[in-house]
Amino acid sequence: MKKVALIFLSISIFIIILYFIINLPEQEPYKPPICGDSICWEGEESYCLDCNLSCKSEFCNSKINVLCDNCTETQKKLLPTLFEHQNIAYDCLANYYNYHPPRLIYHTISSPDSPIEPCNKKEGCYISGGGIAYHEGIEQEFIPGLREYGENDVTKKENIGFEIHEFAHIFTYYGLGIVQSWFTEGISIYTESRVLCHPDYILSNKMDDFLSLYNQLKKGDKTLDEIAPYDEYYQTSHNSHRIGSMYFSALEQDYNCNKKCISRILYFLYEYRKNCVRDCFENAKKYVPQLMNFSLNNNDLRVPIITNKIIKQKSEEIIGEDLNSLFELLEIEY
Ligand SMILES: [Zn+2]
Repeated sequence: MKKVALIFLSISIFIIILYFIINLPEQEPYKPPICGDSICWEGEESYCLDCNLSCKSEFCNSKINVLCDNCTETQKKLLPTLFEHQNIAYDCLANYYNYHPPRLIYHTISSPDSPIEPCNKKEGCYISGGGIAYHEGIEQEFIPGLREYGENDVTKKENIGFEIHEFAHIFTYYGLGIVQSWFTEGISIYTESRVLCHPDYILSNKMDDFLSLYNQLKKGDKTLDEIAPYDEYYQTSHNSHRIGSMYFSALEQDYNCNKKCISRILYFLYEYRKNCVRDCFENAKKYVPQLMNFSLNNNDLRVPIITNKIIKQKSEEIIGEDLNSLFELLEIEY
């Protein structure tokens, strides 16, 4: 009897052990967080240049995908034209920057979270920029273009405009990798103010406003702290939009650097990043110690290759003058 009980107990224990072995939680296969190996690992889509992303809606080609996230019925009707316009904007920026983002860019329209003030001008309000440029693409709670009096969004096809500012951020990121906030804001404002992508596009006049601020700073009428106070959003000691716009205003006014010249600076920076391999890349990587083992090559956009020092160097190369005094005036460290 004792023997039977013992056998029964052994079998029970064996079954219990077997049960646990079979039901062990399956371990996730280890995925090394590497980037630049021509494989798009989950979670690194926005940091690498080698991700093949796919279309999520019908308004899509190899360049952009216009999406609707819980958008209004009116917005939905305007999406085909917006897609057409953003293709024009894409080609225009690609032509100006001399490169294009090497992956698909998502442009998502959604209905607003909080109410947007209706336009209070009889002639209407033209909204060319705004929204957020994430690494994945652009998100906007409205359609860019002309809002008629009393309206808080574009409602007619013929009033649809072009989104340039946020798009320029995307071009900067995917062409140059991460850069200081003053530079990406400056070049976005410059682009929306100076690069005419279509006869119907209305250029922003922001650059003219910043030029007068720059001249006040130069004359000593105002200090940099007065003109460009602390930037809450970027947490930088000076407002990034203002520093960046004043930089490009100065290049235009004092260094005779026109549209072609700025375009060349952008291309030189792009080429620099592209060719920054081996020692150049290893040095750049030192500034992000947590990524030391993560990145295989310069496809990882988190590595700051285009630093203030490189921006200064490339700008000087093209302009043919040193920019020490400008960098000092705007207190840009290099
Ligand atoms: Zn911006």
